[in-house]
Amino acid sequence: MTSREIRSKFLDFFESKSHIIVPSAPMVVKDDPTLMFTNAGMNQFKEYFLGNKPVKHHRITDTQKCLRVSGKHNDLEEVGMDTYHHTMFEMLGNWSFGEYFKKEAIEWAWELLTDVFQVDKDILYVSVFEGDASEDLDRDTEAYDIWKQFVSEDRIINGNKKDNFWEMGDQGPCGPCSEIHVDLRSSEEKAKVSGASLVNQDHPLVVEIWNLVFMQFNRKADKSLEKLPAQHVDTGMGFERLCMVLQNKQSNYDTDVFTPLIREVEAVTKTTYGNPGSSGEKVDIAIRVISDHLRAVAFSIADGQLPSNTGAGYVIRRILRRAIRYGFTFLDTKEPFIYKLVATLSKQMGDAFPELISEKNLITNVIREEEQSFLRTLDQGLVLLENVIETADSKTISGKKAFELYDTFGFPIDLTALILRERGYELDTKGFEKELQKQKDRSRAATKVETGDWEILSDDAVEEFVGYDTLVTTVKITRYRKVESKKDGEMYQLVFNLTPFYPEGGGQVGDKGYLEAQDGGVTYVVDTKKENNLIIHFVKDLPRNPRGTFKAIVDEKQRFRTASNHTATHLLHQALRNILGVHVGQKGSMVHSRNLRFDFSHFSKVSFEELKGVEDFVNARIREGIALEERRNIPYDQAIDEGAIALFGEKYGDAVRAIKFGKSMELCGGTHVPNTSDIWHFIITSEGAVASGIRRIEAITGDAAKQYFIDRSESYANLQKTLNNANDPVKAVEALQEENTSLQKQIQQLLKDKAKNIKGDLKGEISNVNGVNFLAKELDLDASGMKDLAFELGNETDNLFILFGSRAEGKALLTCYISKDLATEKGLDAGKIVRELGKHIQGGGGGQPFFATAGGKNPDGIGEALEKAKGYIK
Ligand code: ATP
Ligand code: MG
Repeated sequence: MTSREIRSKFLDFFESKSHIIVPSAPMVVKDDPTLMFTNAGMNQFKEYFLGNKPVKHHRITDTQKCLRVSGKHNDLEEVGMDTYHHTMFEMLGNWSFGEYFKKEAIEWAWELLTDVFQVDKDILYVSVFEGDASEDLDRDTEAYDIWKQFVSEDRIINGNKKDNFWEMGDQGPCGPCSEIHVDLRSSEEKAKVSGASLVNQDHPLVVEIWNLVFMQFNRKADKSLEKLPAQHVDTGMGFERLCMVLQNKQSNYDTDVFTPLIREVEAVTKTTYGNPGSSGEKVDIAIRVISDHLRAVAFSIADGQLPSNTGAGYVIRRILRRAIRYGFTFLDTKEPFIYKLVATLSKQMGDAFPELISEKNLITNVIREEEQSFLRTLDQGLVLLENVIETADSKTISGKKAFELYDTFGFPIDLTALILRERGYELDTKGFEKELQKQKDRSRAATKVETGDWEILSDDAVEEFVGYDTLVTTVKITRYRKVESKKDGEMYQLVFNLTPFYPEGGGQVGDKGYLEAQDGGVTYVVDTKKENNLIIHFVKDLPRNPRGTFKAIVDEKQRFRTASNHTATHLLHQALRNILGVHVGQKGSMVHSRNLRFDFSHFSKVSFEELKGVEDFVNARIREGIALEERRNIPYDQAIDEGAIALFGEKYGDAVRAIKFGKSMELCGGTHVPNTSDIWHFIITSEGAVASGIRRIEAITGDAAKQYFIDRSESYANLQKTLNNANDPVKAVEALQEENTSLQKQIQQLLKDKAKNIKGDLKGEISNVNGVNFLAKELDLDASGMKDLAFELGNETDNLFILFGSRAEGKALLTCYISKDLATEKGLDAGKIVRELGKHIQGGGGGQPFFATAGGKNPDGIGEALEKAKGYIK
C-alpha cells in the first residue's frame, strides 16, 4: 500500500464513522503564546477542550503537520540517530468533542488496524495508565476492560504518568491515555526477549504508533488538576510509523515517504545510503538528518515562516543549519545542495499539501541562500578555530573560547569538537555547557512570563467582536487573570462579553483605548490580543469593581489611521500584482497607525519606475473614491471562486470575511476605511530585500503623508536659504559639486608634487651602514603616502632598508621596506621587524619579508623605534 493510499484510508475510515475531514492547521502557530509550532493534532482544537469556543462538529478527523523541535516535545537530537523520530511529521487523528469516549475510540482504533489495514494482531501491544498516587489519580480500569475484549491480558501493559498521562504543555487540557505499540523484530529475537518487556524502552523495533488520549482534566497554573466540563477523545497516530508497519519495513526512512528524497540525496552528493562499513553509519545518519530536516524547513517556509534570527524563524534556521552541517562533515558537501531536493519533495507531497507546489520557487531560493551564507560562516569559523588552536597554551581548549565561536559566529559546537579531536586537542565540554547554561538562564529570565489562572466572573464565555460596527459599547468583564513578565511587569488580562477592541491579528496591531466605570473611574487598555479564540485586553491595573458594567471606548484616531494603512496595504498588494505580476504573494505585513509594511515574493529589486507606477496605481484608486464592500460570513469556497486572495499559513474557518475595494478582494479580518478616499494619499518610503526572493515595501498614508509633505517643503526652504536664496537649489548644488571636484584635483596634484620634493630630499639622506643603504625617518604622510614613497625609493636604489614613522590623531604608524635581495641574503623579515619595533609604539602589525606596517597608540615611541632600526643590519 502506498503512503498516499494509507493516508486516505485512514481519513475515509473515520469519515464512515460520521467524522468530518478537516485540513491540517498551519504548522507555525500564530495566536498562542505557549506554543511556537503545532506539536500535536489536538493543538488547533484546544479551545474546544477548554470550552472557549462552541463546538461545531463533534467528530473530526485529519492529518496534521507537526513539528517537535522546541518546548515540551523536542525530538531534534533524536532525529537521524534513530529511525522513527522526525522533526516534522504527519499526525493522523480522530476527535470526539464531548461525544463518544473510551469505548468507541478503542474499538475503532482496533478495527482500523486489524481489519482495514490487516495488521497482524500478534505484533500489537497496548498500554493503559496505571494511576498516580501523588496526584490522586486512579488506574484506568475502564480502558483496561475495553482492551481485554480484543487483546490477551499479557499484551496490556501498565504505563506510568510519563508515558500514559498526556499533557500538551505546562498548562492546559490533559488526561490518561492508551497507546498502541508494534513489535517489528524477527521471530528469533521475539523468542529470546518478550515484546511486552520492550514497550516504551526506546527499542528501535518496538515502537509506539498510536496514542488514544482521553481528555478529562485541565492542568492549572498552580499545577493542580481540574475536571473539564465535558470528556473528549484526542488520538494521534504517526503517519510515517504507520507506513513503516504497513509496508513491512523496519525504518520510517525505508518507506515511500522518504525513499525518493533519499535517492535524490544519494544522487546529488554521490553517496550511498545503507552501506555497511566504518563510516557507513555516519553517512546514513547524515542522509536521514538531511531528508528529514528538508521537510521541516520546506513546510515552514510554505507556511510563511522564513529562517531568521529570532523566535520561530531562528528555530527553523537552526534545523536547516543542522542539516547543512551533517552534509558538510559526513557527506563532504562544501557547496549548497539541499535546495536541489525541494523539487522532489514538492512532486511527492504536493497533492496532499499543495502549498509545496505553489511556493516551490520561494522555498528553493530561501534554502539556497541560507546554505550559501552558513557555508561561508563555516569557512570563517574554520579560520577562527585555526587561530584558537595556534594560540592555545595547552592541549585543552576552554569552553569559553568554544562558546564564543558558537555564540558569536554560529559555529556548531560538535564541529569544533570533531576538528579539535582530529588535531589532537581536547574540548572542555563541561566548561562549554556551563557557558551555554548561563546564556539559557539569562534569556529565560528575560522572557519568563507567569500566567495566573482565570478568575471567572460569568460563564457567558463566548465573546463577540463588535468593533467593525462601533467603537463604543457597554461591556461586562467575564474573566480576568494576572500575568507577570520581565518585559512588561505586572499586568491584567480582561475578557469581555462583547468588545469593540480589535485584537492584534492579520498583521494589524491591536486597538488601544479605555474603560469607563459607572463611577467615572478610567482603566486604560494598552493592547488587545487574541489567544486561543479569546480576545484579551491588557490593562495595568484592575478596575476597582470588576463586576460592574463599563463603557469600552476605542482610541478613534489610532484606529482610523490603522484602518487607512490597512486598506492601503490591500491596494498596494493589488498594485504589485498588476505591475510586477501575479507571482507576487504576500509574505507578511505589519499595519500600524504610523505606517505600513508589506513583504512579498519577488525575485529582483523593484525599480524606481516600478515603484512610481505602484504609487500612482494606489493613488488613482484613492482618488476614485471606491466604497468598501464588506462580506461577512460567506463560505470560504465561494469567496475563493469570486477571486478573493487567501494567505498561506493562515487558518481560515468555513465562513470567512471578504474585503472588497473595486477589483481588490482579500480574505481579511482587519479593519478598513469606508472609502478609499479616506486614505487621502499614499507614499512609499522604502523598498528593500528582507531575504532571498522576499522584498519589503514601507509606506505611509493620511496624516503621516501630510506631515511628510510639510517636512519636505520645510527642508527645501531651508536648503534654499543655505544656498543664498538660490532660485534653483538643484542647479546651485550641482555647481558646488563641480567646483568641489576641480578643487580635489588640484589638491591631488599638489600632494604629488610635495611627495616628489620629499623623495628628492630623502635620497640625499640615505646613508651607508655596513654596506646597506639605510634610511630611518619620521614623515608627515599617511600610510599610503609612505608606502608609495618607500616603493619609489626602492625602485631607484638597490640594497635598501627603510623604516618610516608617522603620527596622526594620536596614533602612530611604522612602515618598513627591505629590498627583496637584501631580505633574502641577510635573512631579514620586515614583518618580524615591525612586530618587534611595534612594541615601542604600543601596537603590532605584520606583512611580508620585504614590506610590512605596524600601527600603535603611542606616537612618542616613534623616535625610539627609528633608533633601534639600525640594530637589524649591524
Ligand atoms: P515517542 O515516545 O515515540 O516519542 P510520543 O509519546 O512522544 O512518542 P505522542 O506525543 O503520543 O508520542 O504522539 C502520538 C503519535 O505521534 C505517536 O504514537 C507516534 O506515532 C507519533 N510521533 C510522536 N513523535 C514523533 C516524531 N518525533 N516523529 C514521528 N512520529 C512521532
Ligand atoms: Mg516523544
